[in-house]
Amino acid sequence: MQTLWQDVRCRNSSARFSFTTATIWRLHNLSKLSEFQGARRGSRRLAFPAALAWAALLATLAGHAQAPSPPTTAIPAPAAQTPAITGPVIVLDAAHGGPDNGAQFTDTLAEKDVTLSLARRIRSELVARGFVPLMMRDADTALSFDQRAAAANSASATLYIAIHASTLGNGVRVYSAAMPAQMPGAARTPLVAWGRAQAAFAANSHWLAAAVGSDMTSKNLPTTATDAAVLPLNAIGALAIAVEVAPPPGSTDVPAVALNLPSYQQAVATALADSIAAERGILSAPVRAASGFSGRPSAGAAP
Ligand SMILES: [Zn+2]
Repeated sequence: MQTLWQDVRCRNSSARFSFTTATIWRLHNLSKLSEFQGARRGSRRLAFPAALAWAALLATLAGHAQAPSPPTTAIPAPAAQTPAITGPVIVLDAAHGGPDNGAQFTDTLAEKDVTLSLARRIRSELVARGFVPLMMRDADTALSFDQRAAAANSASATLYIAIHASTLGNGVRVYSAAMPAQMPGAARTPLVAWGRAQAAFAANSHWLAAAVGSDMTSKNLPTTATDAAVLPLNAIGALAIAVEVAPPPGSTDVPAVALNLPSYQQAVATALADSIAAERGILSAPVRAASGFSGRPSAGAAP
């Protein structure tokens, strides 16, 4: 069983394309963006092979890391026995990993470990609500921003969520890309710059971030939503948000201890999954023009 990243690396071994950073997205033209949008509005069938999709789902349901398969190993999935995957695909990207610890909260607790713990909890909660979460990593794996964006874009996901953690401040912060949304009637070109892949989705990502922030706050989990230059949101060709989890308001524990409490992480995972489920309509909504955007949050600010 494989994580999303392992799955993409496997497919890349067939030389369909290679990870050479910025060149990758240029291979995806606007028709590819339309495929992403069409997948959300239409049958929701996955664009990548059903066998690989099913393998990713099994990895999701298994809930634990397993050794990667050899890159060239085909995953057996008899068509007659492969159930259709119909739920929206959500990529969960536990930030940092490998030598990139993120913030070092204590001598023994790094941000990369908290983000993975959160991602696993969110995965379980999303599965319970009918979504198809794909883990970008399910181990202490080092991935570049470009590798993360390429993997997410290859999955034709409906939503990408980067997960961060911080001992600064309290509550949850939800970010969407700090970039101008694509204007209505903007000229379409056959190539999309790597760092502009989010432009067509930016308005809806703002909308979703604001709605999720409001919804989570209503569940007694104070959440702010705002724009921020969080990598690799700009390079994601789908709805994309980043969720940064800080200790709960009012906690008297040491911040790192409060942040690492299983009960708190579970509460965040449950509230986030509930909120995304409550905002399913945004996941399938037509891409909104920048002029129609009104979801920019008024409360809260980036730290
Ligand atoms: Zn981080």
